[in-house]
Amino acid sequence: MEEGKPLREESIEIPRLGPHSVLVRVSAAGVCHSDIHLVSGAYDLGEGRKLSATGGGTLLPLTPGHEIAGILEELGTEAGATGFRKGDQVVVYPWIGCGACRKCLAGRENMCEGRPAFLGFMKNGGYAEDVLVPDARYLVRSDGIEPAQAATLACSGLTAFSATRRCNLHTDDLLLVIGAGGLGTAAIQIGKRTTGARIAVADIDDTRLGLATKLGADHTFNTARVDAKELVSDVRALNGGRGADAVIDFVGKPATVSLAVRLLGHEGRLVLVGLMGGGLQLSLPILPLLGAQILGSFTGSLSELAELTQLARRGVVAPVVTASYRLEEANEVLFKLEHGEISGRAVLKP
Ligand SMILES: [Zn+2]
Ligand SMILES: [Zn+2]
Repeated sequence: MEEGKPLREESIEIPRLGPHSVLVRVSAAGVCHSDIHLVSGAYDLGEGRKLSATGGGTLLPLTPGHEIAGILEELGTEAGATGFRKGDQVVVYPWIGCGACRKCLAGRENMCEGRPAFLGFMKNGGYAEDVLVPDARYLVRSDGIEPAQAATLACSGLTAFSATRRCNLHTDDLLLVIGAGGLGTAAIQIGKRTTGARIAVADIDDTRLGLATKLGADHTFNTARVDAKELVSDVRALNGGRGADAVIDFVGKPATVSLAVRLLGHEGRLVLVGLMGGGLQLSLPILPLLGAQILGSFTGSLSELAELTQLARRGVVAPVVTASYRLEEANEVLFKLEHGEISGRAVLKP
């Protein structure tokens, strides 16, 4: 890819493997909203400001794709020490950090303060037949999980898992999920099946809301039909007159975030995940008076991916993959995703 241009297919020579690196033959690569930002070139920070999606320092062209599941094809001379063997079924942890900063050393490479090497953003990713992973320790075994489902664990699943954790949910808390796409549907399952919280979902699409109900959502709201004032009073009615205990905003645009703040109850937690972009005017006294928190959450750690993969293997979380496409159809899939025509997750199969 190059910024602002449609993707095109290219042959790249497979690089020579370093001692710790591995080559993974891609079985499925998830198509993520971030890929749209990546291809368009930037995140919208509001007030006309932009943030480069590739970290600014990337050499383009680049192969996108950070949700990667595949078969271990080749191992560097030292990589076998990790216990992995050729032919193993794996999901790749793509949020690879510098390995030397405080966050990386604490196991949170997704929060790298140095120069990260995220696959599909700064290094070539999974919209390909093969992907080079710099160290076998970034692999998680995914046998027993359908490859298309395993792929989505690396971003949509992991992001939903980590964001749901940040909500610090207790039994019977009310969690409101804004946006029932790939991430929202994962959060509904994780929230419902691992925390005992009640889950309400807001979206503008009835098909997605229907899917949310099927996956365990207790209440759904179509915000194309219910205005903000109504939604606030409906949510309070569900929670004994209180606002929501937690809200996860998977959309992240001014309208959804200002709505989310209005929906918070005492000591409510708002976790921002969506990167649709823009700026916001906020009623300041609300936060101290409610003792509310606003947190950002960006993907998750390698150990969280390992935990989530276990949950998927046990069937606690079943990622919703709605469609598979050929690699050559990547541009078409990105277009559909951008225009809200995909519910759940789409994957590319080389
Ligand atoms: Zn993603
Ligand atoms: Zn780092």
